[in-house]
Amino acid sequence: MSLLSVIVPCYNEEENVAPFYEELMKNESFFREKEIELEVLFIDDGSADGTVQEVRKLRERDERVHYVSFSRNFGKEAAMFAGLEHSKGDYVVLMDADLQDPPALLPDMINCLEQGYDSAATRRVSRKGEPPIRSFFARMFYRLMKRISKTEIMDGARDYRMMTRQMVDAILSMKEYNRFTKGIFGWVGFRTKWLEYENVERTRGETKWNFWKLLLYSMDGITAFSTVPLMIASVAGVLFCMLAFVMIIFIIVRKLIFGDPVAGWPSLVCIMLFLSGVQFLCTGILGQYLAKTYMEVKKRPIYLVKEEV
Ligand code: UDP
Ligand code: MG
Repeated sequence: MSLLSVIVPCYNEEENVAPFYEELMKNESFFREKEIELEVLFIDDGSADGTVQEVRKLRERDERVHYVSFSRNFGKEAAMFAGLEHSKGDYVVLMDADLQDPPALLPDMINCLEQGYDSAATRRVSRKGEPPIRSFFARMFYRLMKRISKTEIMDGARDYRMMTRQMVDAILSMKEYNRFTKGIFGWVGFRTKWLEYENVERTRGETKWNFWKLLLYSMDGITAFSTVPLMIASVAGVLFCMLAFVMIIFIIVRKLIFGDPVAGWPSLVCIMLFLSGVQFLCTGILGQYLAKTYMEVKKRPIYLVKEEV
């Protein structure tokens, strides 16, 4: 008998908990056939609604349901980490509570792992139902990451992924505070099989991500998996020094040939404004990395548990 842990991060998902459980259990006969035991681990990420009560109700019916409840909202990254830490399964799968990660793919995923893959990951081939600007910026983000990061981050990849114990342990060994799981999956390596599916729209409740949150999250991703922006800051510095040097020579030569008429203050102001802009930008980039370093060295816990069953 092997054990499959299903990890479900939930933040204000009271109307999704029960339907999710029902949908998951549709695979029960498959699990039984394969002699796979199940453990369903709900991670309540400080929900303000009745999510925990809903999970408790399931727990009364089914001993295989477990939950961890956070003291406040720590974010999905923290919830996934907590789930991995609490899981005991030989296979572990991460799933959203809103049924956007179709449980019908689970048998395929298990088959992949049994064929010898270390993980079965999913990616959406379409983004239908998503606001067009959101898709546009998402695409831009993945294209940028492809260029500036050595870690492979797949376009349209979901966090919906099944892994072997070995890979989970590898991920758990990365204790960083600023977590960007999509990058961590790529960083740890292992053999991954990609399964593709059409986007499924959320039926109940609302998405927890607005544009601003996603933008900040993408910055976390960049600072966590690339130091190219720092490089750009240094290269910009060198380029501008070279430019200044050429200008100095030009001005000296012009003075020697044509004398020194006082003119050109508007261009001077423009140049000064432009350069101080570049300086602020570079300081800002430095600041981003420094801030992340600051949060890392504090070594704060990634999440705090209020209740655990
Ligand atoms: N989630 C969470 N903590 C948060 C935000 C989201 O645990 O701070 C969970 C949420 O309950 C859901 C999953 O992460 O199960 C994905 O969130 P959502 O559906 O809002 O994201 P989207 O699918 O729109 O990207
Ligand atoms: Mg969703």
